[in-house]
Amino acid sequence: MGSSDTAGTTLIVGACQAGVQLASIMRELGDTEPIVLIGEENHRPYQRPPLSKGWIKGELEPDDVILRTREWFADRGIQLVTGDRVVTIHRGADGAGTATTEGGRSIRFARLALTTGAAVRRLPLPGTDYRGVHYLRDADDAISLEAAMRDPATRRVVVVGGGFIGLETAAVARGLGKSVTVLEAAPRLVGRVVAEETSAFYLGAHRRRGTEVLLNARIARIVGDDSSVAGGKGAVSGVEMEDGTVVAADLVVIGIGIIPRVELADQLGLEVDGGIVVDEACRTSDGLTVAAGDCAVMPNPYPLGTGGRIRLESVNNAFEQAKVAAATLLGRDAVYSGVPWFWSDQADIKLQIAGLSTGYDSVVVRGDPETEKFSVLYYRSGRLIAADCINHPAEFMAIRHALGRGATIPPADAADTGIPVKRSIVEPAAAALV
Ligand SMILES: Cc1cc2nc3c(=O)[nH]c(=O)nc-3n(C[C@H](O)[C@H](O)[C@H](O)COP(=O)(O)OP(=O)(O)OC[C@H]3O[C@@H](n4cnc5c(N)ncnc54)[C@H](O)[C@@H]3O)c2cc1C
Repeated sequence: MGSSDTAGTTLIVGACQAGVQLASIMRELGDTEPIVLIGEENHRPYQRPPLSKGWIKGELEPDDVILRTREWFADRGIQLVTGDRVVTIHRGADGAGTATTEGGRSIRFARLALTTGAAVRRLPLPGTDYRGVHYLRDADDAISLEAAMRDPATRRVVVVGGGFIGLETAAVARGLGKSVTVLEAAPRLVGRVVAEETSAFYLGAHRRRGTEVLLNARIARIVGDDSSVAGGKGAVSGVEMEDGTVVAADLVVIGIGIIPRVELADQLGLEVDGGIVVDEACRTSDGLTVAAGDCAVMPNPYPLGTGGRIRLESVNNAFEQAKVAAATLLGRDAVYSGVPWFWSDQADIKLQIAGLSTGYDSVVVRGDPETEKFSVLYYRSGRLIAADCINHPAEFMAIRHALGRGATIPPADAADTGIPVKRSIVEPAAAALV
């Protein structure tokens, strides 16, 4: 296997949203030194969001989801390595070092970026190895899940976990005509991220579309056919609850969250605390390595946030952190600050979230959730800090930009759909008085 020993090389470990963006921005900022971008997956770098949407519905081809073509990398002199995993990294006090890979590569570098993302959280219960039990984090997961969805023998789908990925998957399965049950352990859907009002909307919306949703669901194990399959586990047949009832299934999809990939950071002795700890310039605790994306935990970048550290799992965050990390590696001053945003598509329902609702003390529902076009605005001490906009892109854009300027919307005006949201916005100087 090859050995790259070019002195000024930047090594970026993890070739997905954050890693590709980081390499791209380094070139945009004028860096001409070699860049090696390495990812363990056997695919060209791709976008994950379509996996739980168009991909498992069978609507997309690989070219629809790739982030950049091979030519794009070649044109910019970015050496893309796929299908190989960095297993050890040694670096000296000056920051330069050597990484070795599972495939036997040895890569010398002057600068190092970790964009290692996250791994899917496994359900710690018996039975997850039956045929027909799936997770959904990467392209290989999506390819096998799409095939299972397409199989006419797959009639009953059980989704474990009522977070965004679980609900997106449930919506696809239901749209394909399957009988679908969502099992959520908490008392409400997407409870970690949205207010009661948005959770209640999703519960109603999925039920209206024919999906069964069980809240406070206590799962004991996954059950299947143990009788006769030589050389492998039999097919899944259902999910057994703690009370002994079984929810029948031909396909079980588990979506219970992710765990940041910190193994290389641990090896390097970097501070890790629910992710690789970085400062607002995306610098890790050694002051030399940068980290960005799902793997990184950083000072809350949101000026209207509650402070402390936060780890965000979104494309927007991966992009913004990668921009800052690239600038930092090149010795430029850059600080991550902005209005985080996120989206989720479930059937014909588009949710767009602007801001971070952590620490809210009241909400205003703007519009009628029954119409499936409305917004939930989050307030802290009377000041707007975030919004969930359902099927309302114009409102989302207006609110996102308003939050970015430090503007607010008085709660009483927010509730009045007779006043366009743009006319309710109170700009920063005045907002301080509200
Ligand atoms: C199904 C799905 C749907 C989503 N939908 C949305 C959405 O609608 N909206 C939204 O905002 N976000 C969504 N997300 C989240 C979004 O995709 C992630 O936040 C984003 O991909 C994070 O990018 P990243 O580059 O930090 O990490 P990742 O995308 O996880 O990439 C990290 C890469 O590093 C590789 N790697 C790790 N360790 C090594 C190593 N030692 N050597 C080599 N390679 C390594 C991994 O294999 C992986 O390919 C979704 C995610 C999933 C899985």
